[in-house]
Amino acid sequence: MQAINEFYHLLRTPAKVVITTHQKPDPDAMGSSLGLFHLLIQLGHQVQIISPTNWAAFLDWMPGTGKVLNYETSVEKCNVIINEADWIFCLDFNALNRTKRMATAIAEAKGLRILIDHHREPQIEVFAYGVSDINKSSTCEMLYDFIINCGHADKLNNEMMQCLYAGVMGDTGSFRFASATATVFEMVADFKRRGLQHTIIHENIYDNFLENRFRFIGHVLLNRMEVNYELNTALITITKQDLLRYQVKTGDTEGLVNYPLGIQGIKLAALLIDRDEKRKWSFRSKGTFDCNTFARQHFNGGGHFNAAGGESDESLDANVSLFKSVIKEYKSQLETF
Ligand code: 5GP
Ligand code: MN
Repeated sequence: MQAINEFYHLLRTPAKVVITTHQKPDPDAMGSSLGLFHLLIQLGHQVQIISPTNWAAFLDWMPGTGKVLNYETSVEKCNVIINEADWIFCLDFNALNRTKRMATAIAEAKGLRILIDHHREPQIEVFAYGVSDINKSSTCEMLYDFIINCGHADKLNNEMMQCLYAGVMGDTGSFRFASATATVFEMVADFKRRGLQHTIIHENIYDNFLENRFRFIGHVLLNRMEVNYELNTALITITKQDLLRYQVKTGDTEGLVNYPLGIQGIKLAALLIDRDEKRKWSFRSKGTFDCNTFARQHFNGGGHFNAAGGESDESLDANVSLFKSVIKEYKSQLETF
């Protein structure tokens, strides 16, 4: 993988571009894809964003989401576009398998693959150009750097700022995590000077759910959360019936894993959901517990130090048992702060 600055000069020649991101895109994934989309169309490129799967309805306000294709519902059309692309931007993921059923098409595509991402251990051999930096708060912050460094700060319009701000906000827990560095606040200051209205973005993402989501959360916190004070760990397990009963949609479970971290002393929160074809894990920690390594070693996943995920083909009960047994190995790390 060559450094991203070696790529900048190619931006002068109009190209056919695909932008993609990880499955079930979150605000950072969708925001960085759209931020790049709005830059590249201003530069005269032909651009198509393809999401590997559907996404949460709370992202639909982002300017340009209406033009994003869902790979799962238009496989043939997307495969043609991927095959014809000169460049394939891969944003906010580190390994092609994070694009689920799209991974083969991207791996076999003729175009140049370009990575912009902040996850650990990227698959650098599959990218022609790229930047991977685990010290960055978000891919959206990296997109901001990309826009400035390739000499197009003048193209930063309101649409781009809204998308990029939303992604940084999402990945920094609304600017509270340690990843919200001085450069993040400098970016926000720059956006404010350029006229960004930020309050509405928080409302669009966090105050935009249907009543059923809150009834669902009430049910989950009351009936589905187990707290183990000996290990300072909490586990939330959600069954298929829960998802059906409360008509839970993509995005309704976003942020749920953070609730137990609000309990005094809790150092690790785990959320297990019985999704259609897989059991999906989310892990969040405070302090020195390494979720990335934990998810990699036991749950076929990965992510960041304090936030990671994983997946399994085994049953919900088997996953719960596995979690309860492996977590004991971490007693010394978890019992003290
Ligand atoms: P979330 O819990 O919000 O789904 O994901 C938290 C972090 O872990 C995100 O940065 C996400 O990219 C990563 N992540 C989530 N699920 C997986 C997975 O199955 N495999 C890998 N490698 N990373 C994941
Ligand atoms: Mn991200």
